[in-house]
Amino acid sequence: MAGEKKEFQTERQVFSEHIQNSGLRHTAQRDLILEVFLRTEEHLSSEDLYWLVQKKDQNVGHTTVYRTLKLLTEAGLAREVRFGDGKTYYEHHYNHEHHDHMICTECGKVVEFFSPEIEELQVAMAEKYGFKPTHHSLRILGFCEECQKIDARAAASGAQPRVRVMPARVLR
Ligand SMILES: [Zn+2]
Ligand SMILES: [Zn+2]
Ligand SMILES: [Zn+2]
Repeated sequence: MAGEKKEFQTERQVFSEHIQNSGLRHTAQRDLILEVFLRTEEHLSSEDLYWLVQKKDQNVGHTTVYRTLKLLTEAGLAREVRFGDGKTYYEHHYNHEHHDHMICTECGKVVEFFSPEIEELQVAMAEKYGFKPTHHSLRILGFCEECQKIDARAAASGAQPRVRVMPARVLR
């Protein structure tokens, strides 16, 4: 598409400057990884991104993808997020509003949310404890709408309900 080159111009610029400041060279592989990352509005592990990049160029290795993601994070284009499954995910950071996550521990679905009230409370809490926050990541673990329905259906059919620990309410 013709408009695409313009679309991520600032992001490309930011990346380019970071590469230069790090004393690295531009490579076609890094540019491709950046491209694929920017086009994917998802929470991606380095493995996920690797497979997406593989579809375009089979010569790109795991390590290159991983290192490039680190560069993207340093450059402020990507941000690391953890959902409690031991993996590190990356999402867009540049020009993206801050948000937090609800994670379904059953199917892995991730719901993004933003609440000015919760944000303010966190600042107030930090102040109260004389803490200077630099960043935060709020995760609420539980079951998405879909998985709750599946569970309800299973219970109605007489199947043994799965035993689960419901997460404590974060706020009241
Ligand atoms: Zn937040
Ligand atoms: Zn679910
Ligand atoms: Zn997110």
